[in-house]
Amino acid sequence: MALKVHIAGKLVDKDDARISVFDHGLLYGDGVFEGIRSYRGTVFRLESHLRRLYESAKAICLEIPMTIEAMADAVYETLRANQIQDAYIRLVVTRGSGTLGLDPNRCGHPQVIIIADRISLYPAEFYDKGLEIVTVSTIRNHSAALSPRIKSLNYLNNILAKIEGLKAGCVEALMLNSKGEVAECTGDNIFLVSRGRLLTPPIDAGILDGITRQVVIDLAREVDWTVLEIPLTKHDVYIADECFLTGTAAEVIPVVKVDNRTIGEGVPGPHTRELMDRFRQETLSGSRE
Ligand code: PMP
Repeated sequence: MALKVHIAGKLVDKDDARISVFDHGLLYGDGVFEGIRSYRGTVFRLESHLRRLYESAKAICLEIPMTIEAMADAVYETLRANQIQDAYIRLVVTRGSGTLGLDPNRCGHPQVIIIADRISLYPAEFYDKGLEIVTVSTIRNHSAALSPRIKSLNYLNNILAKIEGLKAGCVEALMLNSKGEVAECTGDNIFLVSRGRLLTPPIDAGILDGITRQVVIDLAREVDWTVLEIPLTKHDVYIADECFLTGTAAEVIPVVKVDNRTIGEGVPGPHTRELMDRFRQETLSGSRE
C-alpha cells in the first residue's frame, strides 16, 4: 500500500503529494514544522506539539488555515489511513506559493502537509552503551536574531552543527550559545546529573522548548528529584556524573563521552536508566495529556 500523505486538506498517494517550486517554504525556509510520535496508535503529547506549532507560526506571522482541533483530527486521520501504530509524524506548514521575493504577503495560502511514516530509530547499541558527542564551533542561533523556540523550516544552524559532528564521527553534536553556555544538541535537549540533581539549560539559554525535555522534568519531579533549569558550561558537562539527551525521535538516550572525555563512569548511569524506563512507561500508558 502506498503511503498516504495529507496535503491541502486531502489524503493522497505519496507520489501525488506535491507542492509548488514557488512555495516560500522551499525558496526561503519560510514555514514551521513539528516532529511527533505515536505509540500503539496514540499520538504522544499531541496537544503540546500542536501548541508549539501554532506558537511557532504566530511568531513568524503565519496564520495556519485550520483550527488546532481540526489539525488534531487530520493527524489521526493520516495515522489511520496508513495503518501505522508506531509512527513518526511530520507536520509541516509552509508560507505557500508566492513570487520570487521575500514578501510573505505575495504568497497565496499556507500549505499544510502531514506525513505519517514508520520510525527509524537509533541503533539499540546507543541506548545500551551510550553515545559519544562533541561540542561543535557552530553556535546556536542568537535568540535576539532568530529565536530557537521557533521550530522553523530553516534548520541550517542545526545542519551545520550536525555536519561538524558527523565529520568528527558523532551522530549528535553539542551547541553552545553566543555566551559560551551549553545550549542544546542539533535535534535534542541536554541534561546532566550532578550530585544527585538533574540539571538542564533554561529556555532562555536559547534552545527549543522540547516536549520530551518537559516530560522528563515532570517525571523527575514526580519522584521528588531536584531539577534545576540553570545556565551550564562545558565545565559542568565534563564533571557531571551522568549526561543524557532528550528528543521526540531519540526519546531519552545516554551520553558517555563528550569531546573525548569520559562522563562519570563511562556507562549509562542509574538516574539515566531510571528515566529511560519511566519515559518508556509514559509513552505506553496511552494517556492523551
Ligand atoms: N532541540 C532541537 C533543536 C530539536 O530540533 C528538537 C527536536 N524537535 C529538540 C531539541 C527536542 O525536542 P522534542 O523533545 O520536542 O522533540
